[in-house]
Amino acid sequence: MIRVPELIQRKRNGEELADAEIGELVLGYARGDVPDYQMAAFCMAVYFRGLSARETFALTDAMVRSGETLDLSGALGRKVVDKHSTGGVGDKTSLAVGPIVAACGVPLGKMSGRGLGHTGGTLDKLESIPGFRTELGLDEFVAQVRDVGVAIVGQTADLVPADKLLYGLRDVTATVDQLSLIAASIMSKKLAGGAQAIVLDVKVGDGAFMKSLDDARRLAETMIGLGREAGREVVCLLTDMDQPLGSAVGNALEVREARATVRGDGPSDFTELVLDACAKLLALSDLGIDEAEGRRHAEEAIADGSAEAVWTRWLAAQGGDPDEAALPAAPVVRAVPAPAAGFVTRVGAIAIGNAALHLGAGRETKDDEVDHAVGIVCRAKRGNEVRAGEPLAEVHARDDASAGTACEEVLAAYEIGAGEPEERPVLLEVVA
Ligand code: URA
Repeated sequence: MIRVPELIQRKRNGEELADAEIGELVLGYARGDVPDYQMAAFCMAVYFRGLSARETFALTDAMVRSGETLDLSGALGRKVVDKHSTGGVGDKTSLAVGPIVAACGVPLGKMSGRGLGHTGGTLDKLESIPGFRTELGLDEFVAQVRDVGVAIVGQTADLVPADKLLYGLRDVTATVDQLSLIAASIMSKKLAGGAQAIVLDVKVGDGAFMKSLDDARRLAETMIGLGREAGREVVCLLTDMDQPLGSAVGNALEVREARATVRGDGPSDFTELVLDACAKLLALSDLGIDEAEGRRHAEEAIADGSAEAVWTRWLAAQGGDPDEAALPAAPVVRAVPAPAAGFVTRVGAIAIGNAALHLGAGRETKDDEVDHAVGIVCRAKRGNEVRAGEPLAEVHARDDASAGTACEEVLAAYEIGAGEPEERPVLLEVVA
């Protein structure tokens, strides 16, 4: 029997723990035998002391073992693909990628998470769609990937319950941005979810958990290693998160933007990343095509309406109302005018993410209810030229008071200068 206070103390003092100790701790937490306060202290010790490669593997393995595992590719007799992001602001990429890849004939089965800190979560976005169910039974999940081509679900009591609990705990105890905890959280979902080929979008910059390219590379290499041990193909895209992705930040607003993108009407930076991710996934699939052809297939699926048709079938299959008009809308919408003319040189992603969080788009305690309607639409992005008074952004709020605060926060996130800033691509590097 482990003594949890001793484990916390040893990790706090920088010791390496044995695999069995990490396994017992995680499985005990998932069973409810280890309370939140001890696990929170353990996560904080890990935050300061880190985990070795062996400990990170043991943590991931224990999280996978906390529930059942699926063999999607075996069940479908096809190579199933998956995609995950390390978390960003305005990152609704999975919502668009799933139906596009499925429309190209490649099944995508994915387990997602909720918002973490200032970053949004795919499950919260999907739950802004009236009726949408993020908890499917395992059989239902497999059947939907087979019949519709795409299913996105949350961690459940059956699938990585340890991540479901840890994820919520880390979100409210300032223990999200730790490399090993992120790697184990993401890879436990990917390994239990059962897809053979996985594209990971590792965000880098102000609004990401990894602030530098070096840290993002280390996270990418750790996750690739965890995937390789389990016999999965993993490719990491290192992508820019110095400014929000696309325009919309906030759950229902992002669902609208993802749908527009699936139809071909999305913002250019977001469309670019969606096409990059689709091209990689299609090249890893069993279609036997390369990335350039994958990109062409994805573009065709958007242009001929087949991706949007899958979007509608997917939402309906998970109980969601596919009618865009059914999405919640905030009662107060206020523009944030540019204080001066010039070029937008910076749109601070973390500041915009926090403004959305304060409006109610995310959680500050585990029990907080998410307000799916609120958020921010960034009308001007880095490199855009604006005139004084022209709207930089729109704040979508529940009431006037929160709108006023958010307008100040959004204005502070923007920097306007006389010179045009250097162009920066969304895709910074690929690690495989
Ligand atoms: N996404 C996850 O699933 N887990 C993390 O820890 C961070 C991003």
